[in-house]
Amino acid sequence: MLKFEQADRVKNLPPYLFARIEKLIAEKREQGVDVISLGIGDPDLPTPDHIIEELKKEAENPANHQYPSSVGMLSYRQAVAEFYKKRFSVDLDPKSEVVTLIGSKEGIAHISWCYLNPGDVVLVPDPGYPVYAGGAILAGAETYTMKLKEENGFKPKYEDIPTDIAKKAKMMFINYPNNPTGAVVDVKFFEETVAFAKEHNILVCHDNAYSEIAFEGYRPPSFLEAKGAKEVGIEFGSVSKPYNMTGWRIGWAVGHPEVVDALGRLKSNVDSGQFQAIQYAAIKGLTGPQDALQNNIAIYDERRKIVVEGLRELGWKVDPPKATFYVWVPVPKGFTSASFAEYVIEKTGVVITPGNGYGESGEGYFRISLTIPTERLKEAFRRMKESLGKVEF
Ligand SMILES: *Cc1c(COP(=O)(O)O)cnc(C)c1O
Repeated sequence: MLKFEQADRVKNLPPYLFARIEKLIAEKREQGVDVISLGIGDPDLPTPDHIIEELKKEAENPANHQYPSSVGMLSYRQAVAEFYKKRFSVDLDPKSEVVTLIGSKEGIAHISWCYLNPGDVVLVPDPGYPVYAGGAILAGAETYTMKLKEENGFKPKYEDIPTDIAKKAKMMFINYPNNPTGAVVDVKFFEETVAFAKEHNILVCHDNAYSEIAFEGYRPPSFLEAKGAKEVGIEFGSVSKPYNMTGWRIGWAVGHPEVVDALGRLKSNVDSGQFQAIQYAAIKGLTGPQDALQNNIAIYDERRKIVVEGLRELGWKVDPPKATFYVWVPVPKGFTSASFAEYVIEKTGVVITPGNGYGESGEGYFRISLTIPTERLKEAFRRMKESLGKVEF
């Protein structure tokens, strides 16, 4: 066996922080414990039938068996533009301001390759979706973390970013509704973001993966609703979360035409776009009946209530999240994120996600995901009530 030295960009990727808890889960399962995971942020409900039917139909058409366009079919990009018009009153040119992605994660990772040279600075939220920093590290860039603090509504405070860092920064990632905190923002925050970006010449990448998963009539805005947003950045989005299509791998980036073009050029050198039958299916998702989405939201809403009420009975003071399928909760007194997650799995066989897995500022929190069957969620809280007792802060 030859030994090969890995490239620095791979060696520099952060350690996988969930390895220890995964080992514990495996041990518990071996002992015969019926482990309930509240850790996974992946819809448990199936993709709606009309979307699956479209895939089946288009899979049989030989025209779809050849290489697709790396930027996506125009009809798919038109469907995305129509969705933006209808949902956010945002105008997009489907030819120059929309690019199809193999899941938004693909574009989030690749945008760093488009704009960051080794040593360049990128601002990333902490806690945050790990791909923002991961993609930047693969591009050899330096990450500066913007701390998302509870007292600031889990929003970055741009005035706290040192001027020399802001001046050096080339790009930034933000994400609202937010994974993992469930925090939401209004268009005013996006306008502040545009102003900050213009002042320091920073490319803004907003991740709007959860725009459609919201409760009590709340409608999360698009970054592109902010005046001037298209001049400073792009927004990522995806059918993954609204239509239970995480396995299908299709999303988009929209906004600043030169940035959209750069992503397309990079993609033409890396992949050749997504299977057209999947693009057709995603069009059906975006333009077809939305009752399955409404049904999803109703189910997450019920689960959200189970979680919030369950936590309150255990002694927590939690507000229900307005959007996303996550509940972000402080750990009790005397625990770290990791020690509490380990304690809960030991005592109850229930898996929660330790907050430090999303960055240093996630320390002291854990995340509960609403993407498990309602009965299992109820069972998890029955066990916690039985075995944990009242928590203290
Ligand atoms: C789930 C998720 C995505 C979406 O990923 P896809 O690649 O489109 O499936 C993007 N950002 C965040 C924060 C997510 O949680």
